[in-house]
Amino acid sequence: MKTPEAKPVNRGRFAELHLHLGGAILPNILYSYLRRQPGHTLLRRFRTMESFERFFARPRRTLDEYLEMHKLVEPIQRLTALPYFIQRLVRGAALFDNLAYMELRYTPWFRTDPHLDDQQRLRQMEEVVDIITASAHLALRRYPLVLRQVLCMHSTLPDAVNRRTVELAAARRPDVCAVDLAGPDRLYESMLPSVVPLFKLARKHGLKTTAHLFETPSGCHPALLPHLDRVGHGIQIPLKHRSLLKDLRRRGQCLEVCPTSYLRTGTLKRYEDLRDVFKRCLDAGVAVAICTDNGGLHQVRLPHEYETLLVADVLDFDEMAACHRAAFAHAFDWREAPRGL
Ligand SMILES: [Zn+2]
Repeated sequence: MKTPEAKPVNRGRFAELHLHLGGAILPNILYSYLRRQPGHTLLRRFRTMESFERFFARPRRTLDEYLEMHKLVEPIQRLTALPYFIQRLVRGAALFDNLAYMELRYTPWFRTDPHLDDQQRLRQMEEVVDIITASAHLALRRYPLVLRQVLCMHSTLPDAVNRRTVELAAARRPDVCAVDLAGPDRLYESMLPSVVPLFKLARKHGLKTTAHLFETPSGCHPALLPHLDRVGHGIQIPLKHRSLLKDLRRRGQCLEVCPTSYLRTGTLKRYEDLRDVFKRCLDAGVAVAICTDNGGLHQVRLPHEYETLLVADVLDFDEMAACHRAAFAHAFDWREAPRGL
């Protein structure tokens, strides 16, 4: 298949649209931080860096099992540790991932102190965002990169916490550019009546919207689609719900496809299984951005995700360039003209 706007593959830095703070840090950096905290319980569980790395490298059977990894990382990334991790994340993104633009997403509640009461934790969410913003600004003085934050509502959290997440995102624009919905997608059904108004509220405040949706067969909720600017994953749409592609095109929605994640969550068996995803989307005029999701924990950098798809013959060079341009074109706050690969 050919894309009419395809240009020669010759240059370019990358735009990362789907990256979780909990999965962005390489295990060796997490472990180096643990070593600075003598007596940390995780040092007893993982006595060597190799055993720590092996824990993250192991494929999981389900999305729920995969998401358990974040529960291990989030308590390491509490307030005092955030500047350390943000500095290293920005440095690595600029020097090794060759990123020009990054949207970093996280659930502020999961970085608050669980010993506090709920009201205190809600207030501490503000501190979390402010520390990440200040740390990012400091790091960005040295490394040329645009970094925007996306705050995640979460399917395991009560409505009040998700509402505060949206309000906080609105209060911290432009550093925060959007809200997301994350967490086990089998819980979405029951929360639809409360989460749709929150997406509407986000848009009313000028925020962009995305959600982890149509990632697995249990996460297919068409009712959410009209409220989104982009779709996190969305691979079940071209695979199992093709009739929805025309609506995605009409709304100008882009899929955030994270190839390695589907192998780690057990959703797909091989990279080649993504061939139909890309072909059907590009044929239908639906944009696809390639992202890492949890590049640190997967130990896969964004340029490598592109290369893997090329080597596996999932994409040709023109299609790869179209996805590269789509990532810049659908970035929530990228103001320059899209760069070609
Ligand atoms: Zn994700």
